[in-house]
Amino acid sequence: MKVLLISDVESEVLLKYYKENHFDNIDLILSVGDLSSDYLHIIKTNLNAPLFYVRGNHDKFKIKLLDRELIEWKCIDYNGIKIAGIGCLGKNGKIYSEKQMEAKLEKLCKKIDKKGGADVVISHYPAQGFGSGADAEHSGFRAIKDFIEKTAPKYFFYGHNHLNYGRNERKIIKGKTTFINAYEKYIVEI
Ligand SMILES: [Zn+2]
Repeated sequence: MKVLLISDVESEVLLKYYKENHFDNIDLILSVGDLSSDYLHIIKTNLNAPLFYVRGNHDKFKIKLLDRELIEWKCIDYNGIKIAGIGCLGKNGKIYSEKQMEAKLEKLCKKIDKKGGADVVISHYPAQGFGSGADAEHSGFRAIKDFIEKTAPKYFFYGHNHLNYGRNERKIIKGKTTFINAYEKYIVEI
């Protein structure tokens, strides 16, 4: 399955030059946040592919997409691939604390266990120490790191730490999991 990952910044190629750049055979789009509803709508239409997403810290507004496309705190089955989504915003629009994230992840872990594991996990925030930054705003969540170690998905896709901030890597492999920063756009075969 050919999956297009998108996050954080809009891609001119996906908006205007997708035909010339062979984006016509994408099976699935996964967005990991900080992108507008309008942008997500256009990309879905341009590529004529289904999309699932989680929100980022800048997505406090209501994203006008179908409810079933938002997969925060769910583990869905898409054509035999199990995909779980990690959210970051509480009902008050604030970013979760480590403690809150830990509690939410514990529940998600149970849902994943019932399905016999997840193949893919998506999250706006990185797992601490895996493509995360040094400052508090970009250091990611320790709870996410623990969760990934415990659930061992094949893939963990995240955003938030723009690759142009420097020092961040697109791809990290640790144990059974491949961590990929979805910044702007990236295609992965899963
Ligand atoms: Zn962000």
